[in-house]
Amino acid sequence: MPYWVTDGTYQSAFLTTSDGVVLFDAPPTIGHNLRRAVDEIAAANGVMNKVSHLIYSHHHADHGGGSSLFDKNVTRIGHEETRRLLLRDDDQARPPNEETFQDRRTLEIGGERIDLAWHGPNHSPDNILIHLPDHDTLMLIDIVNPGWAPIYTSNLSEDIPGYVEAPANALAYSWKHFIGGHNGRLGTRADVTLHQQYMVDIADSSRKAIDTVDPTAYFQKYGENMWAAVKGYLDEVTRVAAAPVIEKYTGVIAAADVYTESTTFWVMESIRLDLGYGSQVHP
Ligand SMILES: [Zn+2]
Repeated sequence: MPYWVTDGTYQSAFLTTSDGVVLFDAPPTIGHNLRRAVDEIAAANGVMNKVSHLIYSHHHADHGGGSSLFDKNVTRIGHEETRRLLLRDDDQARPPNEETFQDRRTLEIGGERIDLAWHGPNHSPDNILIHLPDHDTLMLIDIVNPGWAPIYTSNLSEDIPGYVEAPANALAYSWKHFIGGHNGRLGTRADVTLHQQYMVDIADSSRKAIDTVDPTAYFQKYGENMWAAVKGYLDEVTRVAAAPVIEKYTGVIAAADVYTESTTFWVMESIRLDLGYGSQVHP
């Protein structure tokens, strides 16, 4: 059976099987409580409490920094890029996964099926989808925070086209329960769809703002100080783009008023730099 664990800010999960327990992430903030949760559930269900496998969703320390609390002989599994990044980071708290995969991998552990999939970079280059098809559960970390807005710059995402695409990849699977990695509750398909619409609205509004905000006044004001003019202009594009989104989602997605401008800035820059929108070639 799968279980999820939260401290109110972070989430991880585990699966009890006849061959041992499979952990999905080990956030350091949950830390030793993860072991306590596994022991408690294993005792209550009369199953083995030995953690046999640990699956990394991605390489970030805030989701994997409790990894070293588990036995050295646990089998760690993750994307091949997760291994590369963990070797680079050389953090004792996060031993690199010995087992890797590229695009897809299905695990059968103690009669339980676990599907792992990588659809390309999004929040991080190595972030994967974890599907438990027999339990209607999908885990995808740091994309959708159910009930809450993404924090800074689209949940601190490195690849915005991939980040915007990720919810559709998640919705293509069959599931009812969503483990997003953050805040104190599980998600639903409606949470993922709402987040998707929020991001679409930010992108649409960013395009409009790129089309309508006139940079001239900033270049006149700052003269030869080009970087100050650029900042004044891009900050104004961000404000204009974010305003209607903040109005629409305040009271709908928590902290929309707090983080929408930061996320909008990053989406607007991706629309300019990745998609080439608003780029003009000098005549
Ligand atoms: Zn992360």
